[in-house]
Amino acid sequence: MHPLTEQEIRSSFINCSRRDAARLPVPPELDQVDWDRLDYLGWRDPQSPRRGFAVVPTEEGPKGIVLQTSGPAGPGKQAMCAWCQDVRLPHPVVMYVARRSGAAGRDGSTVGTLICEGFQCSANVRKRPPSPYKGFDMDAHIADRIAGLRERPRGFMAAVDR
Ligand SMILES: [Zn+2]
Repeated sequence: MHPLTEQEIRSSFINCSRRDAARLPVPPELDQVDWDRLDYLGWRDPQSPRRGFAVVPTEEGPKGIVLQTSGPAGPGKQAMCAWCQDVRLPHPVVMYVARRSGAAGRDGSTVGTLICEGFQCSANVRKRPPSPYKGFDMDAHIADRIAGLRERPRGFMAAVDR
């Protein structure tokens, strides 16, 4: 994704007040981020473990959301992240809930989705799985997964922002 400055990140938020956006903890060392290997930027709030943030590139520019998790996905269920759809996850997938933007959000309307707890999706889709058969096109497989990860969070942003 295109590199973002702290100011661009703060001004991208669509489901919190400007005041909250100005105060939320942006990731440290943004100049160290490997933007070429990210399809969206996601991070947890170090002060508030149930809170996370995601900034997703969209056709209308980057859009950021505040997310809240209620904990791991239901017991006994092998949850799959709705964004990266990785099936060999080394970490938990949790339900994240976002307040909708504008009046709907002020009235308490939210939308939720299952996402990798620490927003590891971009790393997941770039992992090279064991080749399922001889001649398997690994590069095309990974390109497909990256394309999917660029698409699905945008769909979620559209649900938040209406
Ligand atoms: Zn994921």
